[in-house]
Amino acid sequence: MSRNTFDLKICIAGAGMGGLTAALALAKRGFRHIEVYEAASNLGFVGAGIQLAPNMARIQDALGVWKEIEKDAVVLEEASIREGADDFELSTVDVRGVRAKYGYASMVGHRASLAAALYEGCKAHRSAITFHFATSVSSVTSFSPHVTFTAVPRDESLQPCTITADIFLACDGVKSIARASLLNALNYSAHAQDTGQAAYRIMLTREQMSQDPELLELLDGNRFTRWIGPKRHIIAYPVSGKSIYNISTLQPDTSFAAAPSATYTTKGSKSAMMDVYGDFCPKVQRMLNLVPQNEVCEWKLRVHARLPTWVYGNLALVGDACHPTLPHLNQGAAQAIEDAAVLAVTLSHLKDGSSKSVNEALRAYETVRKERAETLVELAAANGRAMHLSDADEEARAERDDQFKALREGGGSGVSLPSPDKSVDGQEKAVGEKEEETPGVEQSLLSDARALMSFWCVHLSIYASTARRQHLSGTIDNKH
Ligand SMILES: Cc1cc2nc3c(=O)[nH]c(=O)nc-3n(C[C@H](O)[C@H](O)[C@H](O)COP(=O)(O)OP(=O)(O)OC[C@H]3O[C@@H](n4cnc5c(N)ncnc54)[C@H](O)[C@@H]3O)c2cc1C
Repeated sequence: MSRNTFDLKICIAGAGMGGLTAALALAKRGFRHIEVYEAASNLGFVGAGIQLAPNMARIQDALGVWKEIEKDAVVLEEASIREGADDFELSTVDVRGVRAKYGYASMVGHRASLAAALYEGCKAHRSAITFHFATSVSSVTSFSPHVTFTAVPRDESLQPCTITADIFLACDGVKSIARASLLNALNYSAHAQDTGQAAYRIMLTREQMSQDPELLELLDGNRFTRWIGPKRHIIAYPVSGKSIYNISTLQPDTSFAAAPSATYTTKGSKSAMMDVYGDFCPKVQRMLNLVPQNEVCEWKLRVHARLPTWVYGNLALVGDACHPTLPHLNQGAAQAIEDAAVLAVTLSHLKDGSSKSVNEALRAYETVRKERAETLVELAAANGRAMHLSDADEEARAERDDQFKALREGGGSGVSLPSPDKSVDGQEKAVGEKEEETPGVEQSLLSDARALMSFWCVHLSIYASTARRQHLSGTIDNKH
């Protein structure tokens, strides 16, 4: 017996980038019963910046929230790659051509602005979307014909409750409980993997930087700066209308290795941070020294082995829950957002409300997304290795630095010249492959998703192998 597909109850675990985008995209497509469970008591994102790649911007624009995000985002004009030790500029890449090539400029912003815009977008659909903050999904106990899970309120005076959904989207991040339940049901053993790397995330205000003209120049510029050193780097750029300078670092993890933490975040020690970057140039030292003693926040970076599947019954994993991505390509959130947009397309083409149809739509989502996201996970890891080469990797490091030199001497014409730092050279693989393809890769994914849903699953396996090849080579045929 078929039900109106738009009345299906969709539960989402996690109100991060993937969860918020999924809720909004589904509501915009007409779904009327969306429940979002978020463990945190609000959207109080850790103070951090985020690079807003064009493939992310195009989706947010289609969802009607980009104008709000763009208001206090900073347009980048160049990326400067420097030796950490002496501030020597290895190369500079002109990124002003990104807008002409991809339709949206290379931009950076504050995570809170991105989350707030998405949340406001959701609130405009308040009859369709209900948020349950301070409520964790603790386990998933069945997957079809309905998904059953337990929701546990943080307030201990409230009882945990068992909830049944027609569709469950696990957007609960790298520590995903839903992923653990799915793998357990499949009798597949896989865990989040330690990368041996940790990150400090810092935000300095204009006031904190005001006494240092050299630092103020960084804040007032339209520049992304990366200082690199053996096994470490620092990335910095202005956000929030240039009122804040965002800094994120990456270095070998010692704090968490010494004191494992379930949360993957900890208050770091300022003196330990100053020691890690003790051989970096005075400008970097002065910048780090501005961080107040008790405001050093350190993150442990985790990844996950490729999963055999992202879908089981009526449950699908989304974003970091299924493809946690190291920050070396600035694509983790962008990929979670692409996942959400594709899911909204496949689910809105359900032929009926049966569990079989839901599973087919979720498998179509996986077919369209898995290969691309996993390719970007690998590219991000490779970029990190290239940027962190040490003296022990003498040959590879010399080769990389020769490429930087060629780029420098070639005038840093940016988007058309390859840079060894793949996070700043236009991100061809991530954003789009071809000059003439202004709609971008993610638009092709969405039209693939629509096309796949009209083929239904009879064709799914035939399509899957072709789609994977095409996404890898970046030559997606929209006529499918
Ligand atoms: C240092 C650093 C820099 C980065 N820079 C960039 C960048 O510039 N550009 C970019 O695109 N990406 C970047 N990323 C990656 C990006 O942050 C992640 O890939 C992205 O946030 C993933 O989104 P998500 O929605 O899948 O997960 P998350 O954003 O982690 O959201 C998961 C949500 O689920 C909630 N949750 C967890 N467990 C439960 C539960 N059991 N029940 C209910 N709720 C739960 C969490 O509280 C959270 O709100 C960076 C990452 C790091 C570490």
